[in-house]
This record gives sequence, C-alpha cells and structure tokens, in this order.
Amino acid sequence: MNVEELNALDILDRITDGFFALDYAWNFTYVNEEATKLLFRNREGLVGKNVWDEFPEAIELPFYEMYNHAIKQQVPVTFDSYFPPLRTWFDVRAYPSPNGLSVFFQDITEKKEAVLQSEQHYKSLFEHHPDAVFSFDLEGNYLSVNKGMEELLGYSEEEYKKLSYIPLVSEDSLEITNAHFNKAANGETQNYETKALHKNGHVVHVCVANIPIIVNEKIVGVYGIAKDITKQKQAEEMLIRSEKLSVVGELSASIAHEIRNPLTSLKGFLQLMKSTGTEVPAYFDIMTDEISRIESITGELLLHAKPQAHRFNYENVKEITEHVLVLLGSQALMNNVEVVTDVDTIPPFKCIGNQIKQVLINVIKNAIESMPNGGELVVQVKHRENKVCIQVRDTGCGIPEEFLDEVGLPFYTTKEKGTGLGMMTTMRIVETHGGEFRISSKVNVGTDIEINLPIT
Ligand code: ADP
Ligand code: MG
Repeated sequence: MNVEELNALDILDRITDGFFALDYAWNFTYVNEEATKLLFRNREGLVGKNVWDEFPEAIELPFYEMYNHAIKQQVPVTFDSYFPPLRTWFDVRAYPSPNGLSVFFQDITEKKEAVLQSEQHYKSLFEHHPDAVFSFDLEGNYLSVNKGMEELLGYSEEEYKKLSYIPLVSEDSLEITNAHFNKAANGETQNYETKALHKNGHVVHVCVANIPIIVNEKIVGVYGIAKDITKQKQAEEMLIRSEKLSVVGELSASIAHEIRNPLTSLKGFLQLMKSTGTEVPAYFDIMTDEISRIESITGELLLHAKPQAHRFNYENVKEITEHVLVLLGSQALMNNVEVVTDVDTIPPFKCIGNQIKQVLINVIKNAIESMPNGGELVVQVKHRENKVCIQVRDTGCGIPEEFLDEVGLPFYTTKEKGTGLGMMTTMRIVETHGGEFRISSKVNVGTDIEINLPIT
C-alpha cells in the first residue's frame, strides 16, 4: 500500500458510514471501523473471507441481487433492506470499482421504524375506523376496504377487490355517484348522499366522502369514507309522514267546525218552524243555502284530497254580508247583542265567495261570543278606492295583549267548545286573496278586526 492508499483508508476509517470493499471473487479486501461495529464483526474475521459465506442470509435478500447488478452493469446501486440476523435496517450504496465493489452503508433502523410506526398509525386509522373506509384506482375499482366496509355492504375484502363501485350503487343514484367520483378523481373532494346495494339486495342509504389520493403531486386514486344513514332516512320519512297526518287532522277538525255552523242554523230554523207551526218561505231559502254550504265544504274536502285551484268569481259582497248577518242574527239576539251595520253596495268583486262568507262568519261569531252578557256589534263593509274594507268591532271581553300573537295559531282557543281554527282559517283566506288582516283589542273594552281586500 502506498501513502495515498493509506491516507484514503485512514479517511475511510473515520467516516461515519460503514464501508467495505469486495474484490471480484466477493472477498472482503477492506472493512472500516464503523462497518465492524455495524456488522458486529472484527476486521480480521472478515478480510479475505467471502461475503456470501459470512452472511449467507443476504443471498435471499436484495443485497445479492443488487451487488450483482452493480458489477454486471457497472452502475451504482442504492437500496434499503432489512437484515434479520442483525435486526437492522440498512441503507446501502454500492459503487463498482476497478477491483470489485465499494459498499457504503448506514443503520437506518430508527428512522425506518418511525416511518413504519406512522404507517402503522394510518393503517390503524384505516382498519379500525368505525365508518366504512376504502380506496379505489382511478377507474373506480376497489383496492382496499376495511372491516366497516365489509359490514356495510356484506362483501368480503377479496370480493370487493374484484369489483368496481358501479354494481354496488342503486340504479337511480348511479349517475350522481359517477359525477361525484369523477370530480374526486380530478382532485376535488366530494361529500354526498347516495344509495348503495347490500349483497343481499336491500338498499343502504349512505353519506359518502370521496377524497383524491395524491402521491408525489399526482392523483393515483380515490379514498372513500361511507356512513350508513338508513335509520336517519327512515326517521326523516316517518317525520314527514306524521306531519302529513297532523295536517290531515287539522283539516278534518276545521271542516267539522265549518259544517257545524250551517247545521246549527238548519236545526234552529227547523225548531223555529216546528214550534210556530208555520212555513216561512224566506227560511227555506236560507236553509237551502246552508245545505249547499255543507255541500261545498264536503266538496272542498275532496278538493284537498286532490289539490285544485279555488275558483275566483265575481261576487256580491253586500249580499254575502247580509246573508251572514241573517244567519248569526239569532245568536246575537240570544246574547243580547245589538247589531249595527253599515254595508256599502260594492260592484261585483272578484273573490272566492264561500271563503269570504266563512271569514265573515268566523269573525262575527267570535265577536258575538265575546259578549255573552250583551253589547254592541258593529259590522262595516266599505268600498274604498281599490279595496273592500271589512271592519268588525265588538264591546266584548277583549284579548290580553300578551295573547294577541297567539290568535290565529292553530288550536289556540280560550273557549270550552272552541276549535281554535276559525282565526287561522280566516287569516289564510285573507292571505290567498292578497289582503291584510289586523286585530287590536283591549281587555273589557272590546276587539276591533279590520280586513282589507284588494279589488283587482
Ligand atoms: P275559537 O273561536 O274556536 O276559540 P278562533 O280561532 O275563532 O277559535 O279564536 C281563537 C281565540 O281568539 C278565541 O278563543 C278567543 O280567545 C280569541 N278571540 C278571537 N276573536 C275574539 C274577539 N272578538 N274577542 C275576544 N276574543 C277573541
Ligand atoms: Mg271562533
């Protein structure tokens, strides 16, 4: 060895990497200090010996193949490999040299274990995630699934790996699912609801997130996370159904209420005629009208069952009002209520006649009922510019201020036999006519109701 070679060896001895040199017969020609430590062997035991005799386990590992490759192709090679006999991960760089091979290596066990541990972390997140977690290639073929996914749709991991998501999506949801998947495959994370098919055929409602898998700045696939929301969906449907039922209940109560009014007057007139023994032609007209009102209410029930537009017609509001006053006159009389009316003749007014009649009945009846011991009822129907103004004032019990907002809410009633639907219906009718409804009241002074309906 010349001086230069000695100097070089000296340097190699002091570098922090392990280093050894091999000749073409795979014999060690040099081993540095660090290498003896890393391999747990002394220099004398290695130099002159064949590397594959000394470390036969390495033949089955990347070492053998990579060193051969470096020598045959005369190219440097780098690789990581675990070496079980030493329980060590090595990072190896081997360079062909004029005499054979120069090999530098490092112990990277700690680093590697840290990486493996964090991989383990992710793997554990994947495997033990309570939701279904899965990954796809860019065509939507399953690459991996966790236990949650096996449970969600009933297939095993092996079965999934032979499938794409397409046969597992309910047909009516496939288009939207494809659209979301494609967006995710183009880099946009997606959140959506869809319907999947369980292996045994039933539909599973799922809430899905699709997340692009990005490796080295390239999208290589799509992650999926799915949650079973079937129970939630069923609960929602039940809620909607029960809401519908309560609307039906409300409707029947209000219809019963509306039928009761004309029935009461029919009964009243019949009793009157029976007791007096006379037939009054005017009563027959009113009775006929009341019967047709009942008819139209039951007709309305059918309309609700099969929704249709209400018919707006040109009606005579004065006539309607007078009709209502005749209807409720007897009740007013019984309550000792003095009725003052001021009704303009109004040109034919476009409205739903039966509904306007219902409004007047509801409001006037409430006024009369608020004065069980008598009082004054003022009913005004005025023609003002392009409006019909209906005003009903009573000197009754009034409504406490804190309850004013409650009036008109379904079932708000202070009466023993009230339905609490009259004012709600009234407000709705005024609304469908594009009108305004106002109520003001003072306890023990009276209530003032004003309804303005636009003339169109
Ligand atoms: P009901 O008459 O069946 O109680 P309504 O919807 O017609 O239902 O009225 C709701 C409630 O509003 C009544 O119970 C009553 O407390 C109050 N109310 C409505 N109009 C008047 C009025 N003119 N005077 C006093 N209270 C009224
Ligand atoms: Mg009422």
